Amino acid sequence: MKQRLIYPYSDELLKYEFRKDHPLKPDRLRFTYELSKEIGLLDEVEVIDPVLATRDELELFHTSEFIDAVLSSNETMTPSYRYGLGTMDNPLFPDIYDAAARYVGATLVAAKRFIEGATHAFCISGGLHHAQRSEASGFCIFNDIVAAIMMIQNARPCRVLYFDFDAHHGDGVQNAFYKSNTVLTISIHQDGRTLFPGTGQVYEMGAGEGTGFSVNVPLSPGSGSIELIRAFDEIAVPLFKSFKPDLLVTQLGVDGHFLDPLAHLTYTSYGYETVLRGIKDLAEKYCKMGWLALGGGGYHPVNVARLWTLFLAIMLNQDVPEKLPDSFIEYLKSRGYSNFPVEFRDVNEVVQGYLPHEDIELHLDRIIRRIQEEIFPYHGL
Ligand SMILES: [Zn+2]
Repeated sequence: MKQRLIYPYSDELLKYEFRKDHPLKPDRLRFTYELSKEIGLLDEVEVIDPVLATRDELELFHTSEFIDAVLSSNETMTPSYRYGLGTMDNPLFPDIYDAAARYVGATLVAAKRFIEGATHAFCISGGLHHAQRSEASGFCIFNDIVAAIMMIQNARPCRVLYFDFDAHHGDGVQNAFYKSNTVLTISIHQDGRTLFPGTGQVYEMGAGEGTGFSVNVPLSPGSGSIELIRAFDEIAVPLFKSFKPDLLVTQLGVDGHFLDPLAHLTYTSYGYETVLRGIKDLAEKYCKMGWLALGGGGYHPVNVARLWTLFLAIMLNQDVPEKLPDSFIEYLKSRGYSNFPVEFRDVNEVVQGYLPHEDIELHLDRIIRRIQEEIFPYHGL
């Protein structure tokens, strides 16, 4: 019998809210869940209630001092800047410890099912790729991705390909596995010279045994679907085929979309869909342990909902209707939203960027050539 896709979700996840005016709004998750449910996709998945990650589970990656600092900030509501707590990006909020531990717990319920043999999951609250071993960063308190990969590798030694197309560099995950040759990290993101967290250049290619196993494709601001697809086809695909991972883990942040308010990329649903279908084909061909998909960035809640619902449909071999259901549109209006696309897919496949297109292409040509020259040889390419 075909296994059901695991979908960790409950309304408790909506408590991860820094402030009402903070861009990481719980509506991103609420709307995704509601829309996916509305068009019937959740009938085909197994929705699981996330539980809080235990202290031991958090310590798979994080230092005990850092976990104590989150606990103590939670109790006293006092910032602890050296641990990234109470900053502009990560302001303290009531029960921040439980909220952050539940986010990790959500991804770990999926990870545990993978250890037992599940092969597909989409955890929309997951993907907190900036959290470092001993520091909260970029809206991320604890790093669910690293904890999940470590938990699975401890139980079932395997080769993991981590693929991240969030607009921001997946720095926390890269750093965690920088010296590992069993986790290949590939991040396609807006150039760090123009966007948080500032890292993710080609020369960050791993160290020791892990040299050649951290791969970064920094794109110029304004890069769109064409560049995303090129970076995927010319860098990720050949590395995927040579590395032959047992397990695929993806961070599917959609803040590179042209409607997103935080980054400066211009991806469209066409680019995302093309890459998602490519990922799916590769996972089916190579990854005997399957595909653990996680959310990530994306700060236009309605846009996040339609894209992640589209992604879920692709994972389930289903399609989405042309338009968002009227009932869902009414629901959004009742929640105060007025300006949003009503189609599932963007009408235009390509959106004009910020720089002349030839400059964007020339920059990408150079980046691809450098990766091919400096990193591909470590993989026999
Ligand atoms: Zn992001």
